[in-house]
Amino acid sequence: MGARKTKLTITVDAEILTRAKDTVKGRHLSLSGVIERFLDFFSDPYVYCFKCGEKFRIRSAEICPKCGWLKCPQCDACRCSLGEEAAIAVFHMRRVLEELMGGRLKW
Ligand SMILES: [Zn+2]
Ligand SMILES: [Zn+2]
Repeated sequence: MGARKTKLTITVDAEILTRAKDTVKGRHLSLSGVIERFLDFFSDPYVYCFKCGEKFRIRSAEICPKCGWLKCPQCDACRCSLGEEAAIAVFHMRRVLEELMGGRLKW
């Protein structure tokens, strides 16, 4: 994140904006900061490995050819190393992220 700031004009749902402004105020944040953080994440997202906790960038991670999930660069974990129940839990947790990002990521 550079120090040089630039202006951004966006158009969003009025109701969402009102809700967001209230939330931002309640948490002593700024709307610009929230948007900036999201854009930073959106353009180079990362996840934490569900097994070893390593934080890694999605862009640079490999995909397992067997299960189609991202492989942790640290411990090589992917869906193949999970039992059915755990795989379902991880899948649904990552759905939030996918929806937030506007569609499928790499996995
Ligand atoms: Zn790992
Ligand atoms: Zn796999």
